[in-house]
Amino acid sequence: MKPAAFAYAKARSLGEAVSLLGEREHARLLAGGQSLIATLNMRLDAPDLLVDINGVPGLDGMARRNGHVEIGALVRHAAAERSDVIATYVPLIARAMPHIGHPAIRNRGTIGGSIAFADPAAELPACLLALGGEVEIAAKNGSRSVSADDFFKGLFETAVGPHEVLTAIRVPAATPAARVGFAEFCRRHGDYAIAGLAAQAESDGKRLQNVRLAFFGVGSTPVRARKAEAALAEGGVDDAVKALAEDLQPTDDVQASGAVKKHLAGVLLRRVAAQLTEKPA
Ligand SMILES: Cc1cc2nc3c(=O)[nH]c(=O)nc-3n(C[C@H](O)[C@H](O)[C@H](O)COP(=O)(O)OP(=O)(O)OC[C@H]3O[C@@H](n4cnc5c(N)ncnc54)[C@H](O)[C@@H]3O)c2cc1C
Repeated sequence: MKPAAFAYAKARSLGEAVSLLGEREHARLLAGGQSLIATLNMRLDAPDLLVDINGVPGLDGMARRNGHVEIGALVRHAAAERSDVIATYVPLIARAMPHIGHPAIRNRGTIGGSIAFADPAAELPACLLALGGEVEIAAKNGSRSVSADDFFKGLFETAVGPHEVLTAIRVPAATPAARVGFAEFCRRHGDYAIAGLAAQAESDGKRLQNVRLAFFGVGSTPVRARKAEAALAEGGVDDAVKALAEDLQPTDDVQASGAVKKHLAGVLLRRVAAQLTEKPA
């Protein structure tokens, strides 16, 4: 299939991108195109205008500032994968990166595109949620920050409005006490996950605190497992796995039944709990 006809405009500034989005009823931003072009080709979407933001300056930086790491929307997955800043200060994203598709996809796909697209089986939205990060959004009348806990609204639905641009994500820089864990099940390496788990906690050497568990592939958005988080902080992996019965209500999808996903979530939690209690290298 071929996409429906659309107009194309290349924005040269953030302001121009926002104003172009406001000009048409159904405009879409084009970043890496790795998800968008597939949805157009399958005619799941038929925008009347594509606003290409690849020429917008200032959106492709990665920097540590005031205890946070800011990652620009146009940072390619491959650039984040190779970044020392990410490896040192955002080890959860460094661990997740190799699981996103394949090198060709990671060479073009962007951090902003992945977070804005919000595929419920994608790795980065879950990482953002596990890290307790924030999303920076630019609109006609200025910009605003939205916490990850409030960002994911529903299936492929986020706090980014139709005339807005996601410009960056911000996550707390890892401290020496930070521990991270990541695991997923998929049919082949690089496929979207059947179920996955991104996690962060702090350790004083004996116990875990501030545990955040973000499951993906088990709901319409990435899902925090709050009862399991509390149980894990109490030290009980078995109790945490039991608590998943209340935290997660996965439904059947093309990959697996809800019951299988729930079982896999428990297996993932045991693996990730072991990672969280490991001493960092
Ligand atoms: C074969 C294949 C396998 C893949 N496997 C995985 C995988 O295992 N895990 C995974 O997470 N992803 C996977 N992906 C998707 C990949 O990670 C995409 O790069 C990503 O989801 C979207 O990023 P993009 O830059 O390509 O966005 P685009 O495709 O350009 O855009 C996606 C959507 O987000 C919107 N958008 C883009 N940027 C912004 C912005 N800055 N502000 C607001 N809205 C914006 C667009 O308008 C569009 O609606 C796969 C893709 C392919 C083709």
